[in-house]
Amino acid sequence: MAKPKIIIVGGGFAGLAAAKALRKTPAKVDLIDRTNHHLFQPLLYEVATSVLTPSQIATPIRSILRNHKNTTVILGEVTGVDKDQKCVFFSDADRQNVPIAYDYLVLATGASHSYFGHNEFAEYAPGLKSLADAEAARNKILQAFELAEAEEDPSRHRDLLTFILVGAGPTGVEMAGALAVFVRTTLKSDFRRIDPRSARILLVNMASRVLPSFSESLSKSAKQRLENLGVEVRLGHSVDQIDADGIVVAGERIASKTVIWTAGVAPSPAGKWLNVETDRAGRVRIQKDLTVPGHSEIFVVGDTASLDQNGKPLPGVAQVAIQQGRYAGKLIHNRVVGSPAPGPFSYFDKGTMAVVGKGFAVLQTGKVQLSGFLAWLTWAVVHLQFLATSSLRLSVFLQWVWTYVTGQRGDRLIVNHHGAEYAKAAADATIKPAFAGR
Ligand SMILES: Cc1cc2nc3c(=O)[nH]c(=O)nc-3n(C[C@H](O)[C@H](O)[C@H](O)COP(=O)(O)OP(=O)(O)OC[C@H]3O[C@@H](n4cnc5c(N)ncnc54)[C@H](O)[C@@H]3O)c2cc1C
Repeated sequence: MAKPKIIIVGGGFAGLAAAKALRKTPAKVDLIDRTNHHLFQPLLYEVATSVLTPSQIATPIRSILRNHKNTTVILGEVTGVDKDQKCVFFSDADRQNVPIAYDYLVLATGASHSYFGHNEFAEYAPGLKSLADAEAARNKILQAFELAEAEEDPSRHRDLLTFILVGAGPTGVEMAGALAVFVRTTLKSDFRRIDPRSARILLVNMASRVLPSFSESLSKSAKQRLENLGVEVRLGHSVDQIDADGIVVAGERIASKTVIWTAGVAPSPAGKWLNVETDRAGRVRIQKDLTVPGHSEIFVVGDTASLDQNGKPLPGVAQVAIQQGRYAGKLIHNRVVGSPAPGPFSYFDKGTMAVVGKGFAVLQTGKVQLSGFLAWLTWAVVHLQFLATSSLRLSVFLQWVWTYVTGQRGDRLIVNHHGAEYAKAAADATIKPAFAGR
């Protein structure tokens, strides 16, 4: 009898967990991803702030699954699904909309940025979701210091050295804290015309507190810590405008060359491909066994899925994605080998953490709430443990110790992938007098 065909779309936390659970399944598994690497998104901000190199937080999916003899990894962008014909379509650099048939389908395509209807902000406030985003943010930050150093007119230094983060969830808070430490330690003696410690770091949030998903007391201590690091925190106002000259918030224009979007996320178009019910954010509504209603062969897992537990939607975090991917893989395995299905999916919450600068984090798990150095140590151990390979764990551990002790970073290179664009951006920045005046 022909082996069943299983397609997993996405090699993130959920897709990889599903592939691992299917390792011994007598089936033909295809994992399709549009990138060739599994990315550890929780440490993207450390690439953006020069602590780690891109290769320390990403691993080729092919190498992670090299011992999975039943699994083929395909580099391609999935563009649609035909539920009736049971096939997905993917495109690569060579071919468009190639169909591949499946018996079981796992969609684990994650999420991207949401600008809450203001897609025009994207041009001026890039988000932080991929390795390319993190490198672009790092380039932008480092370039701002270079432009300021090259600028003879000191009145322009303040605008060039104003960094704005829009959104004070974990990503915004972690990024603001890391940036504050970066400018006040690593960079402090590297420049002659400017003092990097004078950089202004602004964290803007629509909600009335930072880290709204944490308890009030933890969010207070995170805010206090940010302020001690010199970060200006502006709460309770959404950003009205973002353009080449900076932002407008609560009617005030703040000039800045570097605005980074750390606010909302939007799910992948999996719901549109399947033409099924989604929640308000566009995530596919799934059942307790993680399948789509009416299609017991289609599983949707991770950030692109919506499932309520105890009356509340599960959050878009790595643990939910891993546990759902593992569950979907196990359920498919059991069906293929004829074993009884596991009970309904139930998420086990191991807690949430956010790091706020060097040696400080907040941690919340059940009734336990912790802030400070111990929480930071826990954060470091947990993050090391979840990196994809032992070589990454060792490399990141050594880099962290080195950075902690010496203040030196892993990667402060401005890597210019698009020479012409850089030259134009640099020229625009130099000839635009309006930028300085606002
Ligand atoms: C900056 C940042 C910091 C974060 N910090 C934390 C944290 O500290 N703790 C925590 O628990 N969570 C954190 N998260 C959230 C966590 O990373 C996500 O919840 C998790 O990655 C979701 O896993 P996933 O497998 O659903 O999606 P992803 O990990 O995003 O994987 C989706 C995969 O699908 C691929 N893909 C997407 N569309 C297609 C397509 N059309 N065709 C082919 N492939 C496709 C992508 O290339 C990607 O590899 C953070 C997220 C970000 C962005």
